[in-house]
Amino acid sequence: MERIKVNEIFKSIQGESSFAGRVCVFVRVAGCNLRCSYCDTKYAYEEGKFLEIEEILKKIKKFKCNLVSVTGGEPLLEKGVYKLMEKLVKSGKQVLLETNGSVSIKDVDKKAVIVMDIKCPSSGEDKKFLQENLKYLKPSDEIKFVIGNRKDYLWAKKAIKTFGILKHKILFSPAFESLKPTALAEWIIKDNLEIRFNLQLHKYIWNPSRRGV
Ligand code: SF4
Repeated sequence: MERIKVNEIFKSIQGESSFAGRVCVFVRVAGCNLRCSYCDTKYAYEEGKFLEIEEILKKIKKFKCNLVSVTGGEPLLEKGVYKLMEKLVKSGKQVLLETNGSVSIKDVDKKAVIVMDIKCPSSGEDKKFLQENLKYLKPSDEIKFVIGNRKDYLWAKKAIKTFGILKHKILFSPAFESLKPTALAEWIIKDNLEIRFNLQLHKYIWNPSRRGV
């Protein structure tokens, strides 16, 4: 049986993406191939327990929630994640996959909504972006830029044009504690950008260092 190294499974409010504000079950898969400067889930790099896919499905079922977010770390590093998402979709769940953009999304179930990062320079991991992922994105998928400073903002603005990705939902989110939300909001308004301003809602609802929210 296939097993996945899982860091935590919990129910909370989805804090990001166009699903922000919805009650959601999170499956946080352990392990990540990147080391972003602002990473707030370092605890998921190593910590985790191997669980059978069926065990994970059972735990998710107990929460009685239709929206399930598969997140990390980087979930696509675990081979079993593809099957987990397929089974979730088949069981009628709305599935979100949060991925860092550096691993191929080619084989992800087409019914899952992918929320893919394009890492900006201040992350220190912008060179790891797998550009061919852009051709596998569906119109319903979302692209997230975490903006740490003005340089990131200008870089992201240019990337939208260079990659021609406005057909997707584009999310700009200020890196928590690096960039004031008001500064980012004002730049977006001034430039009339056709993107969505995002906040990591869970960090404003609960203590920002709290886990499992
Ligand atoms: S991709 Fe996500 S989990 Fe991995 S280092 Fe970056 S912020 Fe942290």
